[in-house]
This record gives sequence, structure tokens and C-alpha cells, in this order.
Amino acid sequence: MINVPEIFASMVFNECEMKKRLSKKIYKSLKKTMEEGSPLELGVANEVANAMKDWAIEKGATHYSHWFQPLTGITAEKHDSFLTPLGNGKIIMSFSGKELIKGEPDASSFPSGGYRSTFEARGYTVWDPTSYPFVKDHTLCIPTAFCSYTGEALDKKTPLLRSMESLNEQALRILKLFGKTARHVTTTMGSEQEYFLIDEKLYAKRRDLKMTGRTLFGARPVKGQEMDDQYFAAIKPRVIKYMEDLNEELWKLGIYAKTEHNEAAPAQHEMAPIFTTSNLAADQNQLTMEIMKKVARRHGLICLLHEKPFEGVNGSGKHNNWSIATDAGENLFAPGKTPMENAQFLLFLTAVIKAVDDHQDLLRAIVASAGNDHRLGANEAPPAIMSIYVGDELEEILEAIKDGKAYTANGSKRMSIGVDVLPSIPKDSTDRNRTSPFAFTGNRFEFRSVGSKLSISGPNTILNSILADTLSSFADELEKAKDFDKELQILIKREITCHWRILFSGNGYGEEWVKEAERRGLKNLKTTPDAMTHYLDKKNVELFKRMGIYSEFEMKSHYDVKLEKYCQVLNIEVETMIEMVNKDIVPSGMNFLNKLADTHSKLKDTGVTFLAGKNLIKKVDSLLSQIEEKKEKLLGVHQTTKALSTLMEKSKSYADVVIPAMDELRSIVDSLEPLLGQEYKPYPTYEDLLFSVQ
Ligand code: ADP
Ligand code: MG
Repeated sequence: MINVPEIFASMVFNECEMKKRLSKKIYKSLKKTMEEGSPLELGVANEVANAMKDWAIEKGATHYSHWFQPLTGITAEKHDSFLTPLGNGKIIMSFSGKELIKGEPDASSFPSGGYRSTFEARGYTVWDPTSYPFVKDHTLCIPTAFCSYTGEALDKKTPLLRSMESLNEQALRILKLFGKTARHVTTTMGSEQEYFLIDEKLYAKRRDLKMTGRTLFGARPVKGQEMDDQYFAAIKPRVIKYMEDLNEELWKLGIYAKTEHNEAAPAQHEMAPIFTTSNLAADQNQLTMEIMKKVARRHGLICLLHEKPFEGVNGSGKHNNWSIATDAGENLFAPGKTPMENAQFLLFLTAVIKAVDDHQDLLRAIVASAGNDHRLGANEAPPAIMSIYVGDELEEILEAIKDGKAYTANGSKRMSIGVDVLPSIPKDSTDRNRTSPFAFTGNRFEFRSVGSKLSISGPNTILNSILADTLSSFADELEKAKDFDKELQILIKREITCHWRILFSGNGYGEEWVKEAERRGLKNLKTTPDAMTHYLDKKNVELFKRMGIYSEFEMKSHYDVKLEKYCQVLNIEVETMIEMVNKDIVPSGMNFLNKLADTHSKLKDTGVTFLAGKNLIKKVDSLLSQIEEKKEKLLGVHQTTKALSTLMEKSKSYADVVIPAMDELRSIVDSLEPLLGQEYKPYPTYEDLLFSVQ
């Protein structure tokens, strides 16, 4: 049995370790930097670096690395050893304060969307002391932010930190109006990570899984997830062993792995950690994804983090649980006990409602990717339309405010709405509407459109920024108010009325909602190019500039990087499909035909009719011809798409023309697959992939 408290965070240079290894003076100075962001003096940095190195060496480290999150959405590291020659053929292990604080990786090969040409590719990484260093693979990893010499953020962490700071500033202005003396406000985040586990040997036989992370072909198995017998079911022994091993690795890195269960689709599972400060949660989620994949290999398994690895069963998401709390521990999304506290809660709630309605486009854009487009709107994940679910009770309260009517709690007590007589809002009164992309769940919001593979830095940067901006406009108005209570009522009522359309508690998966949402004027941005069309709108560029989160340059770079990636993913998918048709599918079909023809000729003089065989020959031959035809069509439209000049034109063509051609090809191939005898299957089937890990 492992001793969890003993191993927990054993590979992390956290405050406990810092306290133990640093002199009081140095520790105090470091703590100040961590809490207030004051610069770290070189002398202090030198001592910290030295202590960190000694600790890391005890944990088996030989190298150090600045660990950062470029715009690729995954993490990057470049290892340097602690080795320093002494001149007499001997070495010592050293690590300086300078090396701790700042690194200069060659930035030229990271995506930047072209605004920074390769010859100017000077970027540097700076330690984010609010996220602890850790040892992984014999390397001391130092969480850092990655910026260009001209100050642009080249990563996902810098904007997240900026957005947290901006929300801190604006939320404090609001709290001050309510007479609160909080010194600091931080955002918190808990991510529910979904994933699939499949057998490594089967994976190795599928080009599509290896190249693209998802199956591009595959007939539906006779059984999918329709029996609902996988969700929360007893976990299979091989998976349990994997989860145990995973937990241990995560715990060692100080990640609060808490909940694990089977998900809706066969071979699908989920891990949820306990929430923590957003930037730490983002670092930890990146690590979690990396470790999930690594540990799987040890068990002869492959962990698929793609948003849609299999057709016909659910894909994977990552619910982004988001809240804000003060340094005094007050959760600002939790309904309060007193009317005044509730007024404050209602103001924050109103701000979220306004922010989401005003920036549906940004929330949709940030979760857009070729993979996630398969989920959103496919009756398994929230639709591409943004809406908020607040629960029946809260919706009734909001409605009463909007209509200026009395609120009737549970049909008994009548209460009028005013700061002095606000209804008490029952805690956790929300129902769980799983079809909503953005649900209030008692003391936090759950943004459910995030794809399983996506870095959570982006979505949280957007959430923090749009809320900060809205709070800032509320504060501007309320700070001028002569009668605060009265002005507060007016503001809440006005904004709820104005943004009423974004509230929706019905079935988000139904076709009726699509029509209703259109009637309400909500955006339905179905594909990544659709979603990115509005990214550079003036309202967005100005918002991020105003809040100091992204410069226009940075936004243009996101736009390019996102669309470029979309085109690259689809390009690889098309080419893999063609490869599979040429190397796996057609040869398998031909072999099968050959076998049938062979049998036929051998049976010629025996008088048997060979009717089934002849029919099969005709069917297989016809499907092979159609495959040829659809393949040529796909090649044609792909060629035309690649020749288009702008990224937006290309992306749109992939979405509107290439993807339908891929679907056509797939559908013919998938109708051929079940006709082929077991030994003629071109690759492991869905049945093999989804049901073989026991
Ligand atoms: P469910 O699947 O029912 O939504 P889970 O327990 O799987 O619930 O996940 C809920 C997630 O929400 C957990 O990661 C949890 O730590 C997180 N969470 C709870 N409270 C907060 C909060 N105040 N801020 C951010 N995340 C939170
Ligand atoms: Mg869950």
C-alpha cells in the first residue's frame, strides 16, 4: 500500500520544502515575490536556485528545464544539465539564480502566426514563482512564462496571468462598493478530464490513430453506448491498475487527483482533480495529460485525448469549473446568507450573464478546433450555441427582478425584490442540466464546451477577461451612484432584461433549440472558421487592449495559429485517409475478391450455384469502385483547397467542401468493412478497439 500523505507532492519544490531549505530571510523575500509579484533580487535568486538544485539532485535530477506553454497548446521543455566543468577534468553540479529566473530558448520554431519572423525569433522564459518547480524524468522543471523581447506573449500562460490580475483589480472595485476589505481576488479552476484507453497493439495497427489521434474509418460495432452500461460502471481490472498508477504519479507531482470513473462511451473514463488557482490548475492539467499518456504506455495501453476518437459514441470533453474567491476565502459565485450578500452575488451573476451574452463569439472561438468541431452540436456535447443555465429557482428570481414582480419561493413566502428584502437563495439549488454549455452549479460555473485536449489557459483567459471588462463597466457606473442601493437595483434589472435571451434551461441537444436560438438572435458558429470570423472584430480587439490581456498583434497571431492548425490537422487527416485506402482498404478488398474468385473457379465444375459468393463479389467490386471514385473526388477538392490563398478561405473550404468529401469516402469504406471476412479486415475494428481492454 502506498502512503498517500507521504508521497503527495514529494516531487514538488513547494512552500514546505522552501521553508525547510532556505534561510528565514530568503524565504520571506521569495514569499513576498510569490504573493505580491515583487521582483526577485539576484542574490536571493542565487540562494533559491542553489537550494532548489540540491533538492532536485536528491530526487534524482541531473538536468533543469524552463517548462512553458507555447501556442501549440502543449508544453515545451529544453533540458540543460547542472554540469559545470572545473577545468581539471572534473565537474560540479551548479545552478545559478540567473538560470532560474530567465531562459532563452530558440523561439523560432514555435507557432506565432507569422507576426514575428524567424530572424527576430528572440524569446525568453521567466519563472512564474506562483507555480512550484517539480522534478519529472530526472529533470527539474521550472514553470515559466514565455515572451518575446518586444514584450508580446508567445505562450498561453502570460495572458492567463494578465487576465487573473485584471479580474482581481475589477472585482476588488466591486467588493469595495459593498464595503468589503478583501485584499486579493483569485480565480479557481477544476477540470474534469475525459479520455479513452485502448490496447497499444491494436493502436499500432491503425495509421489513423497513430497519425491523427482519431479513427478516420471504422464501421459501427453491433453494440455502442446505447445500453448505458458503461457510465459509472465497475472499473475493469486493467483500467483500475492504470488509474492507481496514474494517481500515484499525479500525487507525487502535487496534483489533487480526486475522482475517477467510467464515462458514457465504451473505453471512456474521467479524472477530476480538486480545484485550485487557475494558473496552477492550467499547469497541472497540462502535466496530467502528459502523464496520462505516459503511464498508459507502461500498461500496454494508449490514452487517447482526442475530442472525437470514434464515430457513433461520445467524444471527450473537459468541463471547465470556474469560480472566483477572495483572500478571505469568500466564493464570489456562491449565493450568500444575508440580503446584502445576495445583492453582491446577484451583481456578479448579472456580470457573468452579460459577459457571456456579449461575447458568445469569443467563448465559441476559444474552444474551436478541428477535433472539437465534431463534438459541439452532435447531440453528445453542448451545442455550438452559447447559452447559460442557472437552474429553475435562480431563473425564477431573475425573472421576478426583470418583470419587477414579487418572487414566490416554493409557492409560499412572498418576497419583493429590493436590497433590503432580497430572497435568500438556497445553496446548490441547481438542477444538473447536462446539455448546457455554460451551467451554474451552485457556487461555480461549468463551461462544458472545452475539448478534452485543449489547454485550459485559453478558456480561462477569456472567461476572466470578459468578466473583468463587464465588472469594470459596472464599477464605473456604481462608483458614481449617489444612492448605491437604488442604482444597483436599476443596473441589475436593466442588464438582466437586456441579456435575458442567453438564459436557457431546456434541452440543448434538440433541433428546436437551434431554431429558438436563431429567433433569439444567438450565434450558432458551427465550425472553426465560422467561430474565428469574429475573433478580430473591433469589440474583441478593444476589449483585450482595454483589459491589458492581448495586444492586437497577439490576437492576429492567435487567429493565424488557430486557422493554420485547423488546416494542418485536416491536411494530415485527408492524406492519412488516402494512405489507408491505398495501402490497407483496397488491398484487403482485392484479396478478399481474389479469394472469392479463386473459390468460384475451383467450384465451377461441381455444379454448386455459389450464389452468396457471386453476390458478395458484385457488392465488394461495386464498393471498391465507389471508393475509387470518392477517393478521386476527395483528392480533387483537397488540391483545390490547398491552392487557395488565405487561411480563412482554406479553412472554410476544408469545413464546407473537404470534410463532406471525407465523410462520403468514409461511409463507403465503412459499408465495405463488415463484408470482409475476419482475416481480410484491413485494420482492427471498432469492436476490437472499444471492447478489448478488460
Ligand atoms: P460533476 O461531474 O458532477 O460536475 P465532479 O466532481 O466530477 O463533478 O467535478 C467537479 C469539479 O469542480 C471538480 O474538479 C471540483 O474540484 C471543481 N470545483 C468545485 N468547486 C469549485 C470552485 N469553487 N472553483 C472551481 N472549481 C470547483
Ligand atoms: Mg464529472
